[in-house]
Amino acid sequence: MAQDQTITRHFFRPGTGDDGLRPPCEVACPIHTDAQRYIQLVAAGRYADALEVIRDTNALPQSIGRICAHPCEDACRRGQVDEPIAICNIKREASDGAKAEGRGYDPPRPQFGDRKVAIIGSGPSGLAAAHDLALMGIRPVVYERQPEAGGFLRTGILNYRLPKDILDEDIAYITGMGVEIRTGVAIGEDVGFDELAAEHDAVLIAVGLSESRSLPVAGVDNRGVLLAVPFLEAVNAGREVPELGKEIIVIGGGNVAIDVARSARRVSGGDVTMVCLEADHEMPAHDWEVRDAVAEGVKIVCSQGPNAIVGDGQVEGLEMKRCESVFDEQGRFAPTFCETELSTLPGDTVIISIGQMSDMSFLGGSGPELDGRGILVFDREQCATTRRGVFASGEVVTGPGAAVSAMASGKRAAIAIGKFLGVDVDFPAEPRAVNELPGYVAGMINKGARRSVPARPEDERVRDFGEVELGLGEVDGRCEASRCLLCAAGARYSETRCISCLTCVRVCPYAAPEADGNGLLKIDPDKCQACGICFTQCPAKAIDLAVLSEDDIRAAVDAALEGSGEVEFGCWYPQTRVAAEAGAVMLPCTARLSLGLVLYAFEAGAGRVHVAVCSEDDNGRFVTGHRQTRAVVEEGRRALQEIGLDPEALVLTLVKEKKCLKPQQ
Ligand code: SF4
Ligand code: SF4
Repeated sequence: MAQDQTITRHFFRPGTGDDGLRPPCEVACPIHTDAQRYIQLVAAGRYADALEVIRDTNALPQSIGRICAHPCEDACRRGQVDEPIAICNIKREASDGAKAEGRGYDPPRPQFGDRKVAIIGSGPSGLAAAHDLALMGIRPVVYERQPEAGGFLRTGILNYRLPKDILDEDIAYITGMGVEIRTGVAIGEDVGFDELAAEHDAVLIAVGLSESRSLPVAGVDNRGVLLAVPFLEAVNAGREVPELGKEIIVIGGGNVAIDVARSARRVSGGDVTMVCLEADHEMPAHDWEVRDAVAEGVKIVCSQGPNAIVGDGQVEGLEMKRCESVFDEQGRFAPTFCETELSTLPGDTVIISIGQMSDMSFLGGSGPELDGRGILVFDREQCATTRRGVFASGEVVTGPGAAVSAMASGKRAAIAIGKFLGVDVDFPAEPRAVNELPGYVAGMINKGARRSVPARPEDERVRDFGEVELGLGEVDGRCEASRCLLCAAGARYSETRCISCLTCVRVCPYAAPEADGNGLLKIDPDKCQACGICFTQCPAKAIDLAVLSEDDIRAAVDAALEGSGEVEFGCWYPQTRVAAEAGAVMLPCTARLSLGLVLYAFEAGAGRVHVAVCSEDDNGRFVTGHRQTRAVVEEGRRALQEIGLDPEALVLTLVKEKKCLKPQQ
């Protein structure tokens, strides 16, 4: 019998009880993707369902699964136990796994009415807005001045991080929904802004930050001085960069500068040194990006600012002055230098990567106001510019940030435009997260190291632009997913059913249920680990679980019996079946199995019921869970005997090989 086909995304319920609390990973995600749900589905090997969950909020799941800055991982409560869940890599696993199954890549085809929205720019913000508008039945037409769609994802992020065929597949899904993308059309040149506005019911400006900032220092006109954006565009398009030498200096310490440096290493095969104002702990680039660059041989000189580019017609080096501090007391960028402490770094090429800005010249003075710095005047709440019907989103209004933040901005703009055009939509309320794990609960959770993503060896990967990270793969992907703590998806109880017997208070290993002086119960969502023990023990059936309710499990039993006369209650983490011939009902832990559910399987027609259980000394994540499972099976056998059935029809099988607990090879 194949892997359990009954666990669907619908078995996962939002929040614990009525408090509406959500997992911190989801709250930290700018587009609030339900990470917990897709992580559980990946753990269960249900990749296409996982991808469907991701697609609920994310129009570019494959691309974002490779390049996301993953703020969700910074918020992940597993980090209090050992290390955060590798959420971003699991997202990639979902899309890779679904693709291998040949599922999850057929786009919906919404019916469009007669309203049309022009979107200027096909980067993450514009594409996210186009996707969401299409789902509202509004026809989006995306205008892109480059020959291919994708914005900075295509022109600024290199193949070794985001292969172009992956981006193409994400874009093909969006165009498959009926979104039209007109490439090679420059608004302001090929089509005037007023003309565009007149032909559409609304316009969204999502042009990003397409221009590199330069430096006001002597020598900047020398041959061999390049700007980051045109350099990355050329490399991405496979064009030669004849000015590139063999001793390359990259000015800047952000993520774009890292990409410039890593690309320059690949293209030139020469020495690459980054020079940045910040001390190493202050660098704006993500630490994992810095690590990758250093592993590929990029050198980094910190706490130095550019004083002059040395050379008489051709770059010969960079004169630097020591940077004493980068930020003022309020944390604002206000670098100070020691003007007398100068040094020179020799080099034949300087690439300036100190930030980007927008080019709003395409507006041609036709409507939306710009402020004194040339930045769009913008209502952040309504995503509106000063010209009616013209909206804006992404970095052009939010400033530089992660691709997923640009998508969040595009999604909000889509809602704003939908409202403007009379669609019955509204901005969602911001979700609230459960609090941190109490220290004693964190201390009770079995530790398990985070799975790292295999990568190509450094000396091999700097010779080409092939993808560096190879993905977790099935075993490590599912094992990593099984580390998730199911935050905010635990016990919820019914006040009307509760008889104040306080059984839950007695049995909960984590002291989550608390009773007040009147016997009124509260289950603390910060403490609850969704182990299910109270759910199986409560005599009044007053407790259910958010992650997989009693009704869900009964439905799974019915489905399992459609193809078999036997049922296996197993754990969806170890990826090990104990009764291959039985219909599978996979649970986060068989501690969640109540006597009622075991007997229900027999009532529903099972001739034999198998229950998988961990050994005493290898007890998975839920402390005492295995004891609970054994006790329920013993009880079940007695019950079968009492009603004249063979107690041996209820089989307890030890899971011997728990792949999820094996260390990564
Ligand atoms: S443990 Fe799981 S649910 Fe909790 S924050 Fe981390 S990924 Fe999200
Ligand atoms: S027994 Fe388990 S499911 Fe019930 S409150 Fe305690 S941790 Fe949560």
